[in-house]
Amino acid sequence: MQLVKFSSHLTQEIEQIKAYNKTIGFIPTMGALHEGHLSLVKAAKDTCEVVVVSIYVNPTQFNKKEDLDKYPRALEQDMELLKGYADIIFNPKSDVEIYGDEIQLKAYDFGKLDEPLEGAFRPGHFKGMANVVSKFFSLIQPDKAFFGLKDYQQYVLVKEMVKIDGHPVEVIGSPTVRETSGLAMSSRNRRLSPKALDAASVIYYTLTYCKQYAQHIPLNQLKETGLHMLKNIMQTEYLEFRTADTLEEYEHLKDGDNVFLSYAGVIEGVRLIDNIVFEV
Ligand code: AMP
Repeated sequence: MQLVKFSSHLTQEIEQIKAYNKTIGFIPTMGALHEGHLSLVKAAKDTCEVVVVSIYVNPTQFNKKEDLDKYPRALEQDMELLKGYADIIFNPKSDVEIYGDEIQLKAYDFGKLDEPLEGAFRPGHFKGMANVVSKFFSLIQPDKAFFGLKDYQQYVLVKEMVKIDGHPVEVIGSPTVRETSGLAMSSRNRRLSPKALDAASVIYYTLTYCKQYAQHIPLNQLKETGLHMLKNIMQTEYLEFRTADTLEEYEHLKDGDNVFLSYAGVIEGVRLIDNIVFEV
C-alpha cells in the first residue's frame, strides 16, 4: 500500500498501471473511515485489479467553515484500516494538488437534480463535490468508481457529472452500512456523545416506519407522524418522499412507484443524513 501526496506522483503511478492494462477501482472519501467506507473498498477489491482510495477533506463542498474545521481527520487510523484492501492512498498534501494556485469551479447544469434536499440546505455543496470528483476521475482514470447510497443524491449527481464530462467510468452505488441500532455509519458520528448516538437511531426507525405505512396512510399524514417521532430528538431539516430517478416530490404514492425517502437533521450540533429507497 502506497501513500501518495502529490498529483504528479499519482499521474506517474496511474500511467504505470495503465501500461500493464490493469483495471482501477476508485473510492473517493474524506477520511475518518468506518465500515461503510470499507464496504466500498472491499467491493472495489472484489472487482478491480488495483484499488485507489482518496482521502481529502474537500473545502469547496463545505458551505460552513465551522463544519469544515470540525470535520474529523484520522489519517494514521485510516491507513491501518485500509491495509490489505487498498493499493494506493491519495492524500493530497494541500489543496494546490487538486485545484492549482487558484480555486476555479466549473458550473454544472444538473437541471433540477441539485435543487432540493442537500442542494437546498447546503448551497454550493454539489458544485464543489462534482468538481472534485471530476478532477479525481481525470487524474485516476478509474474503470469503476464506488459511491455509498447513503449519499443518494450525490450518487445521482455523480452519474450526471460523468455524462456531462464524458468520463469513461462505471459508477457503482453500494448499500448503506448501519450500526446495529440502525443508525447509518458516518464519520460525523464520531462527534456524538454515546447518548446521542443511541438516540439518533430514531432516524432509521422513522424511515422504516414511513416505508412500512407508505401504502396505507396518506403521505402528508405519514410525514407529520414521522416528524413527530423525530421531534424531541432531532432538529429536522427535511423528511421527504421523492422519485428515485428525477428527485421530484411525491404527493401520493401508487403501486410500482420507486421512492427515495430522504432525511437530514441535527443532533448535538452534528448534521446527519440518511435515506431509504424502496418500491411501493
Ligand atoms: P465521505 O467520506 O463521507 O465523503 O464518504 C465517502 C464515501 O463513502 C461516499 O460515497 C459515501 O456515500 C460513502 N459512505 C459513507 N457512509 C457510508 C455508509 N454508512 N455506508 C455506505 N457507504 C457510506
